[in-house]
Amino acid sequence: MLIRHLGNYDWENTLVLNYKEEGTHFKSITRRVLCEGLADVPCQLRYFEIAPEGYSTLEHHQHAHLVMIFRGEGEVLLGDKIYPVQEKDVVTIPAQTWHQFRATKGTTFGFLCLVNIDRDRPFLPTEDDLKLLRQNPEIAAFIRS
Ligand code: MN
Repeated sequence: MLIRHLGNYDWENTLVLNYKEEGTHFKSITRRVLCEGLADVPCQLRYFEIAPEGYSTLEHHQHAHLVMIFRGEGEVLLGDKIYPVQEKDVVTIPAQTWHQFRATKGTTFGFLCLVNIDRDRPFLPTEDDLKLLRQNPEIAAFIRS
């Protein structure tokens, strides 16, 4: 099957969806599901796009993410480190690792994310989690929740 790119980060037969069904712990981010898995690859391939000033949820979970930066520049919190990332960089997010993506100021930031179809729900930080995370000043300045 071919899912043709139509230009401007839209693909045929692919809707622009809300990032998540519910919640408020994110900002200015959309989701496109490019593939719902196939045969012995039971994985969704998604394209997420974060507008300037936007961010994904700060979360962790048991399932892993394989990410390739696809558009623009951003930063990612991964565990206890913050990395600048750009097009073609690959980010692997292991189980139970805090992560959050942000667009670099003034840029639209997009990434592909491969995830198992059968996966657990994300955990959001508790007040205690946030306190721990904020002990690192760099992380305190970065995270949005
Ligand atoms: Mn996640």
